Amino acid sequence: MSDILYPEVLSDPVSCATPAEPLSAPADPEAEPADNASPASSAERKTKLRLNKLQKRLRREMGRAIEDFRMIEDGDRVMVCLSGGKDSYTMLDILLNLQKSAPVNFELIAVNLDQKQPGFPEHILPAYLDQVGVPYHIVERDTYSIVKELVPEGKTTCGLCSRLRRGTLYGFADEIGANKIALGHHRDDILETFFLNMFFGGKLKSMPPKLVSDDGKNMVIRPLAYSREKDIEAYSGLKQFPIIPCNLCGSQENLQRQVIKDMLQGWDRSHPGRIETMFSALQNVVPSHLADTQLFDFANLQLGFAHGIATPGDDSETAELPGGRIDILSL
Ligand code: SF4
Repeated sequence: MSDILYPEVLSDPVSCATPAEPLSAPADPEAEPADNASPASSAERKTKLRLNKLQKRLRREMGRAIEDFRMIEDGDRVMVCLSGGKDSYTMLDILLNLQKSAPVNFELIAVNLDQKQPGFPEHILPAYLDQVGVPYHIVERDTYSIVKELVPEGKTTCGLCSRLRRGTLYGFADEIGANKIALGHHRDDILETFFLNMFFGGKLKSMPPKLVSDDGKNMVIRPLAYSREKDIEAYSGLKQFPIIPCNLCGSQENLQRQVIKDMLQGWDRSHPGRIETMFSALQNVVPSHLADTQLFDFANLQLGFAHGIATPGDDSETAELPGGRIDILSL
């Protein structure tokens, strides 16, 4: 769909929030700075170049994710959940950018849930959203008090807090007639969740890029599913989004998630490319080579009847990877 819906994704890196160049400016923004350029203008140019490159990559990845999962279609009303963190600001920015070049019409409505955490700076998001010019709602719901009342002191509050937030946002989507709910989770979140579920839940499952909520009423999409956290972080810094800190509730970050994050970041440093390979694995599942009897009919497996999705001859338990043939069991 990105090639059809978003034909300019690959070619136009200019952000809707980036002021246009005056017509008299040099035509090629990627040209090397002139020798006589002042240090300040040279630094500015480099920053702009980096921003354009990142934006181009994020647009391309989001366009591809939207296409692969048919996340957004003509006539959709998309509620974009904005927490005030780097991920949701980036998601909104790139969605607005794509909206300008998409040959289909869809609406974007930003929604922030003010959970009444002490010290929440209420003015920041409205000021930003007014400046960007996107329709928005601030929903006020004191989930903070509920969480404080129900969760014993010293226990992590994130589980209940997230459930209350999700319920409120899903209900609000119905109120405003939004048929899609966009969340800012990215590829690193998806991989972390996969390992959390495997290590602590005994399940191979993660956060899908698109899903229907348990009550069947809401379609949730994750347009940043193909994007890396480090790109989002860099983009957010260069765009100078007015970040609202996420520790206002006083809760510790989920420690297990942090352990998994550290593990993945360590692999990223010591084995470049492993993160990409692992994410590819989530998109390349072979039920006949796992052990879930609900997913694959092992009981009725017969000679000469290959009803798995493995290609003929691919019955090995090893994988061909860039570094050579690797025994999966030894990793
Ligand atoms: S960090 Fe605080 S606001 Fe965020 S999910 Fe946890 S309890 Fe809720």
